[in-house]
Amino acid sequence: MIPSNFSYHKATSIKDAIALSQTHGEEAKYMSGGHSLLPMMKLRFASPEHIIDISKIDGLSYIKEEGDFLKLGALTTQSEMEYSPLIKQKYAIFSDAIKLTADPSVRNVGTIGGNIAHGDAANDQPALMLAMRATIIAEGLNGQKSIPIDEFFHGFYMTALEPSDILIEIQVPKAKNRSGGAYHKVERKVGDYATAGVAVHVELDDSGICQEIGIGLTNVSAVPMRLDRGEDI
Ligand SMILES: Cc1cc2nc3c(=O)[nH]c(=O)nc-3n(C[C@H](O)[C@H](O)[C@H](O)COP(=O)(O)OP(=O)(O)OC[C@H]3O[C@@H](n4cnc5c(N)ncnc54)[C@H](O)[C@@H]3O)c2cc1C
Repeated sequence: MIPSNFSYHKATSIKDAIALSQTHGEEAKYMSGGHSLLPMMKLRFASPEHIIDISKIDGLSYIKEEGDFLKLGALTTQSEMEYSPLIKQKYAIFSDAIKLTADPSVRNVGTIGGNIAHGDAANDQPALMLAMRATIIAEGLNGQKSIPIDEFFHGFYMTALEPSDILIEIQVPKAKNRSGGAYHKVERKVGDYATAGVAVHVELDDSGICQEIGIGLTNVSAVPMRLDRGEDI
C-alpha cells in the first residue's frame, strides 16, 4: 500500500530536529532507518503529517567503551553492531541476536535507537537491553535525561519518550570478566519476527557463583518483559 501524504524534513542536528518536532507537534514523527515506521505508514497504522529525518545527524553512530559503560549511538545500524569487533569479543549476545533480526538489507539500515524507540514487543533488541540492564539517554525540550530500561516501555508501541524526545544513546554496563549471555528466538521461518524470544545475561564471581542475572523476553506481552521470578530463582 501507499502511505498517506506527508511533508519531509531533514534535520541537520539534534537541536534542529527537536525544533522541527516542536513546530509540527504530535503530527510529526522522527525517522531513523525507516524500517519500522515506513511499513506502518504503508499499512496506514500510522499517518504522520510530517516526517523528520534524523538519519543524517552527525555524531550519533558509534560503539565504544567509556567509563563504566558500553555506549551505543542511536544511529548505529544493526549491521554495524553485528560486525563490530568489540561487540563480537565482549558483548557477543548482541551480535548473536542481531543475526536473527530480519535480513541483511533491513539490518544495514535499521538502527539500534529506532529498534528500541519503536516500543514493539516483537522487536528483538529490547529483550537484550532488559537482560543487560541498559539505560536509555534521550534529549528533548528540557535537555537530556536518563531512563532505566525497566521504566522505558509503557505499552503497545508506547515508551517513556515524550513526542520531542530523541533517543540519542544506549548505555550498557561494561562487560565483567566472567560474564556472558545468549538469545534464543523461536520464529516461524528465517527472518520473521519472533513468535517468542528470550535473552539471558549472567555474571559469575571468581568461584563460579552467579552474582547477577538478567532475563528479557520478546513478544510474550504488550511490552518487552523482564522475567523477574526467573531471575530470583
Ligand atoms: C521485513 C522486516 C522484518 C523485520 N524483522 C525484524 C525482526 O525480526 N526483529 C526486529 O527486532 N526487528 C525487525 N524489523 C524492524 C527493524 O529492525 C527496524 O529497522 C527497527 O525496528 C527500527 O529501526 P529504524 O531505524 O528503521 O527505525 P524507524 O523505522 O526509523 O523508527 C521506528 C520508530 O521509532 C521512532 N524513532 C526512530 N529513531 C528514533 C530516535 N533516535 N529517537 C526517538 N524516536 C525514534 C520513529 O519515530 C518510529 O516511531 C524488521 C523490519 C522489516 C522491514
